[in-house]
Amino acid sequence: MQYLGLENKVVLVTGGNRGIGAAIVSLLKELGSQVAYTYRSDRNLDEDSLAIQADVTDSTAMAQAVEEVEQKLGPIYGVVANAGITRDNFFPKLTINDWDAVIETNLKGIYNTLSPVIPKMYERREGSVVCISSISGERGNIGQTNYAAAKAGVIGLTKSLALEAARYGVRANAVAPGFIETQMTNAMPDKVKEKIIAEIPFRRFGKPHEVAWAVAFLLSPVASSFVTGTVLQVNGGHNT
Ligand code: NDP
Repeated sequence: MQYLGLENKVVLVTGGNRGIGAAIVSLLKELGSQVAYTYRSDRNLDEDSLAIQADVTDSTAMAQAVEEVEQKLGPIYGVVANAGITRDNFFPKLTINDWDAVIETNLKGIYNTLSPVIPKMYERREGSVVCISSISGERGNIGQTNYAAAKAGVIGLTKSLALEAARYGVRANAVAPGFIETQMTNAMPDKVKEKIIAEIPFRRFGKPHEVAWAVAFLLSPVASSFVTGTVLQVNGGHNT
């Protein structure tokens, strides 16, 4: 019998109360990890994980969340920087508030999540970080100049961190989901969805658990021990 090596490892997932984050939390628990997750407004009814209300745009709250996880569960082995938002609009109509909100949450939020924990991982010579990027960050998307900029930034952040972290035995990778069935994509008009599905070789949107398995692979000290600085696409062949 082989295992992913995530049993009893402490993993922190941001935005773990719903959508892709909730699927990651659920799978990691099934794989035997001790999971903590953050949420902004509504926690779900999951009683088996440590749920912490912390906005990723608040650096103090994120530092406190990391301390709380380590006090209650032990040293953090894995971080999944998943929390994200969209504020879509065509560029001429995109307000500075929409620009700032998306960059603050989707890019600076990852800095706020990782900065309290990376030095601890370096000291312990162990750790795996997975950042959730997007197909939009790789190939751009109409109405998403802000979101695509943030998600492309996530790839640059991850690749650079991977180069710095390798000497400490710490890995950093990204997952770039294509279109996945969550509240984020439910908000899209049906006509737009149909057009996108026609471009996807699998002719469907992905499911949150299909992203979760990619995250588990990249977190695993067994399955991906020689993988760092990569971007794993989970997009049904909807390539760039
Ligand atoms: P959802 O909208 O379903 O969930 C977003 C999650 O992020 C929620 O848990 C939400 O918490 C949390 N969140 C948002 N803002 C903050 C914040 N400021 N602080 C803390 N938590 C926050 O999105 P998805 O599950 O679809 O997306 C998850 C990730 O995957 C995002 O980074 C997204 O960009 C990315 N992605 C999604 C794709 C898709 O097709 N769905 C495609 C490619 C990438 P709360 O409920 O409390 O607001």
